[in-house]
Amino acid sequence: MKILLRPLLVLLVAFSTGCVTQPHPSSTPHSPVSQPAPLLLISIDAYRADYITRGLSPTLAMLAQDGVQADSMQPSFPSLTFPNHYTIVTGLRPDHHGIVDNTMTDPQLGKFSLKNRKAVSDGRWWDEGTPIWETADAHGLRTATMFWPGAEADIHGQHPDDWKPFDGAVTADARVDQVLAWLNVPAAQRPTFLTLYFDAVDHAGHEYGPDSPQVNDALRHTDDAMARLVRGLKQDGLFDQMNIIVLADHGMASVPLANSVMIDKLIPLDKVQTVGLGVLAGFNPKSGTTNADSDFASIERTMEQPQQHMHCWDKTRVPKRLAYGSNPRVPQLLCLADVGWRITTADYATSHVGHISVGEHGYDNADPLMQALFIAHGPDFRDGAKVPTFPNVDVYPLMTHLLQIPAAPNDGNYDAVKSMLKPDAR
Ligand SMILES: [Zn+2]
Repeated sequence: MKILLRPLLVLLVAFSTGCVTQPHPSSTPHSPVSQPAPLLLISIDAYRADYITRGLSPTLAMLAQDGVQADSMQPSFPSLTFPNHYTIVTGLRPDHHGIVDNTMTDPQLGKFSLKNRKAVSDGRWWDEGTPIWETADAHGLRTATMFWPGAEADIHGQHPDDWKPFDGAVTADARVDQVLAWLNVPAAQRPTFLTLYFDAVDHAGHEYGPDSPQVNDALRHTDDAMARLVRGLKQDGLFDQMNIIVLADHGMASVPLANSVMIDKLIPLDKVQTVGLGVLAGFNPKSGTTNADSDFASIERTMEQPQQHMHCWDKTRVPKRLAYGSNPRVPQLLCLADVGWRITTADYATSHVGHISVGEHGYDNADPLMQALFIAHGPDFRDGAKVPTFPNVDVYPLMTHLLQIPAAPNDGNYDAVKSMLKPDAR
C-alpha cells in the first residue's frame, strides 16, 4: 500500500512545500460568518493503523474515502493511553506536558494512577500543558467532552463547558447520543470543539490480543456506534458542516504469556522504589537516598548492560529520538521491554494467573505495531487525500488552525499537516 501511494505522496509533499503561505481567511465558503466549523475529535483507544484493512470498519472507510487518511499516526513515547491523549490535545510530548506515564509519582503530589480518581481529577498533575478546550473557551468557543483524559481535571481551575466523569459502563451508543444532544441545539449555543472516546477495542486487545476474534467484534461494534453518529449528524443537517477527526492513541502488540522478563531476578527490589512495571518499568532510589547512593548507581550500571528482551537506561541516557527523561516525574531508571514482551515479577505472575494481558502497548513509538489510526473528514479537509505517517504532536496545531485560535507553545508542526486541508482552509 505504501509503495502504491508513493507517487501521490511525492506530489502532495511537492504541493505543500511549494505552497506560499496565505493570509488566514476571515471567512470560508462553508461559513458565511467568521465562526469556525464545529470540530469533533474522536479517539478509538488502541485502534492500530492496520486494523482498518480488516474490512470491519465501513463507516471509518467511508470517512477516509471522502476525507483524509494518513498511512498511520506515530504516537509519542511512551505509547500509553494517558500520555498520548494529553499530547493530542496539547501538542506537547509527554516529557513536556507532565503526564509521563499512566502510573507515576511526583515529589509534591504523590502517586498518580488511572484508578486513582482523586489524582486523575487533580489539575496540578496536568497543568504543565494547556489543553485545547481551555484555549477555545478563552476565545469564546463552547467546548464539550464525552470523555477525554484530562477533561475531568480542573486544569488551571477550568473544565470544558460540558464534560462527563469517565464511566466505562456508559455504552458506545449512549456516548454518541450525548454528543448528538450537545450538537442538536441552536447554532449560537452549539459547542465548537467536542471530543468522543471509545475504549472497547483497547479492552479486547489487552484481554485477548490484537489478532483475536474479540478485537474484530469490538471493531464492528465501534463502527456501529460511528454509523449511529454519522446518521444522527445527517438527520440534524450537521454532517457536512462539521470537521471530524478520528484517531487512536497507540496500537497494540501480541504478548504471549511466556514472554515475561522477571525483573525481581535482575534487580534487588527491596533496595529500590518501584514506580511501575509492565512494558515500561520505572525505578527510583528509595526515599531518603539519592542517585549518588552507591547501591542505586551500581544497580543502574548493571542494568544498563545489554539485557535479554529489554533495554534499561538512566533517565539522562534515554535515546534522543524517544524525547523522554527530562521531566522530574520520569523515574531515574527506566526499563523498556522489547515489542512482544512484558516486565513483571514472579509474585505478580503467580498472583494474577488468568488475568495477565496478552496484548500490550507502551513500547518504542517507532515500532510498526504501535502506529495509530488517523482519519479526518469535513468541510475544511480535502476529499480522498492520502498522507504519509506523521507524529501525533502535529494534531494540536492542526486543530487550533481549524478553530482559528492561537496555539499555546507546543512540539507540533502545522506546516507538516497543512496539506490535509483544502487550500481555502489553510
Ligand atoms: Zn490507549
